[in-house]
Amino acid sequence: MRPFLQSVRETVLVLTVTVVITVSGGEGQPAATHGAPPVTLTAEQDHQRTLDLLHITSLRPGVSGDPKSPDAANYDESKVPPYSLPDPLLSKNGSQVKTGEQWWKQRRPQIVEDFDREVYGRVPQNTPKVQWEVTSTAREMNGDVPVVTKNLIGHVNNSSYPAVSVNIQLTLSTPANATGPVPVIMEFDLSPEVLAEIAKRYPDLFKSSGPSWQQQLLAKGWGYASLIATSVQADNGGGLTQGIIGLVNQGQPRKLDDWGALRAWAWGASRALDYFETDKAVDAKQVGITGHSRYGKAALVAMANDSRFAIAYISSSGAGGAALWRRNFGEQLGNVAASGEYHWMAGSFLKYAGPLTTNDLPVDSHELIALCAPRPVFISGGATQGDGWVDAKGMFLAAAAAGPVYRLLGKKGLGTTAFPPIETPLIDGDIAFRQHSGGHTPAPNWPTFLTFASRYLQSVPVPPTMSKPEVALTFDDLPAHGPLPSDLTRVAVINSIIHALQAAHAPPIYGFVNAKRIEEDPSTAQVLQLWRDAGFPLGNHTYSHINLNTNSVEAFEQDFLANEPTLQKFMGDGDWRWLRYPFLAEGDTVEKHRAILAFLKERNYRVAEVTLSFGDYAYNDPYVRCLAKNDQQGVEFLKQSYLAGAADSLADGQKMSQLIYGRDIKHVMLLHVGAFETVMLPHLLELLQQRGFNLITLPEAESDPAYATDADLPGNWGGTFLQQMLRVKHLDFQYSEDRLSKLDAVCR
Ligand SMILES: [Zn+2]
Repeated sequence: MRPFLQSVRETVLVLTVTVVITVSGGEGQPAATHGAPPVTLTAEQDHQRTLDLLHITSLRPGVSGDPKSPDAANYDESKVPPYSLPDPLLSKNGSQVKTGEQWWKQRRPQIVEDFDREVYGRVPQNTPKVQWEVTSTAREMNGDVPVVTKNLIGHVNNSSYPAVSVNIQLTLSTPANATGPVPVIMEFDLSPEVLAEIAKRYPDLFKSSGPSWQQQLLAKGWGYASLIATSVQADNGGGLTQGIIGLVNQGQPRKLDDWGALRAWAWGASRALDYFETDKAVDAKQVGITGHSRYGKAALVAMANDSRFAIAYISSSGAGGAALWRRNFGEQLGNVAASGEYHWMAGSFLKYAGPLTTNDLPVDSHELIALCAPRPVFISGGATQGDGWVDAKGMFLAAAAAGPVYRLLGKKGLGTTAFPPIETPLIDGDIAFRQHSGGHTPAPNWPTFLTFASRYLQSVPVPPTMSKPEVALTFDDLPAHGPLPSDLTRVAVINSIIHALQAAHAPPIYGFVNAKRIEEDPSTAQVLQLWRDAGFPLGNHTYSHINLNTNSVEAFEQDFLANEPTLQKFMGDGDWRWLRYPFLAEGDTVEKHRAILAFLKERNYRVAEVTLSFGDYAYNDPYVRCLAKNDQQGVEFLKQSYLAGAADSLADGQKMSQLIYGRDIKHVMLLHVGAFETVMLPHLLELLQQRGFNLITLPEAESDPAYATDADLPGNWGGTFLQQMLRVKHLDFQYSEDRLSKLDAVCR
């Protein structure tokens, strides 16, 4: 019933191991005192070495995930033997803890000492300093929200033992429009390489609907961070002479009460928090910690041991995390003490799977949760079917048993000791719990955690970035663009477009003219006259639609000037000094580009930029083909493709604008006076209305300060204004699907 999850878990483990080995190479030069390379032991060898130190010859084995095995894990509630938990408020001297002061001064240090000595190991008195370096800062989009993402490396000082180097990998993303420091939730993560490998093998594992947990945080104005745990300490016993544990031990194997990987990972999280205290984007007093599975254990250990963490989301942490050691359900102590997992713990912990039993442990997991008090902590797990290994009920019982400590400190516990029905959130106290109905995943409980967290972390109002969007429509290639169906004239096309624009109460819309078409067909002069009669202005699109990228500056200028008499004739004193570059080609070299800009400036021209373009021109050829064949299905396909492309272009344009400017600039949309526009323009105008766009004039749009900066791109590169600015600023953007390449095959 859980072999799949089991195998995923093992895959995670195996992959982690293979990647981690490369983390710290023996690059140090041998020195007389401390230059010897780290001791090399396999996990099995180090495990055996630990047993030898404990004078133990064999361990009780763990339980099996295979239900058919004779030592299968217990998933039957009626077969859980009775047990009794240590009282977190009973001091070692037998006295009951009655005050907060007694808790802080007397009892809590006893519990910390027990966990350090017997369970997770001790963090060394003096750990090396970590120097944080921001290796890159990028503005990017997460969903609809622009964020600033910093990649960081925490260089751990290894001057005491140069043979081991530790570089902690951390990324931090905060909302780009935040006006002050924001709360941040930090997650322990697998390395990107391991994640990619898992995603490749189990593509379904990462498929999810709805916003990611990071996007849910952004919706509250919060940020998120990711700490690569294995960059602090390898997730295997063979790595214990390297990483931060190996560095501090100068490459020697651990002593029995030395820290294990969980404590080391938690130490790394505390160092990340040190950095957040120096970063003005982060409210370091409102940093939460989260992790899933083994990293859920690490998150709980971090929360228990560093009181600076404001809140924790502990997901499916199981044995070694929030689940009670003494309860026989799912994974057991013997599993954690075996060679595959013992490195999470102190060496001394192994004896509880040897001569001693769980009942001999001086502490249990409810006391680890109690160490988090009075700070809020959310304990989470999935259904028994799929996540039974981590024992959701055992975690619930631990959470409930931590209640007395929270209440002593004036806080509220879970509020019940009765295990709630699945999917029932218990989030009214300062300890919270929910069992979701999914498998071994943190995803289903994120919304519940955020509801809980909202009581503690400040929601940050992010200034509205989506003020009412504005767009200037522009039409190119007047008076004639593209092929015409047999029953349509240029005059009919322009009348149809004008009619649709007027019906939508559009302001004056610029049409860009190639006067050569009038020379070719004098009857098209009427098109320009109709446009003018409607009160719409005209601009310069060059006389013959010349391509600047494939022609000289002189040829372009000549062609451009040849267009002016026509503009003068139809526009008179009007503002016709706008250039729309044919093909959006702005010069294949930066010199040509600058030459034309200087020429335009001299002649008092402005460039009619484009931010929204979805290739409307490409629909005319297939449309005419479909009509000739009377292929209504083909026409229908074209309509849907055109509208979907237009919708994508609006969304992409707005996202690009957010990414570049952190706001939605005033847009300019490129359209053409083609035959298909007579069919689609009313639908396009309806779409713009649905998306909340106000129609404005081109001069209004270009009054946006964004257009004051020219991309000044070298080389043969067109694209829209926003695409150019993305390139200038080295920003990545995921475009919506390409629809135009499919048009060529339509109605053939
Ligand atoms: Zn054109």
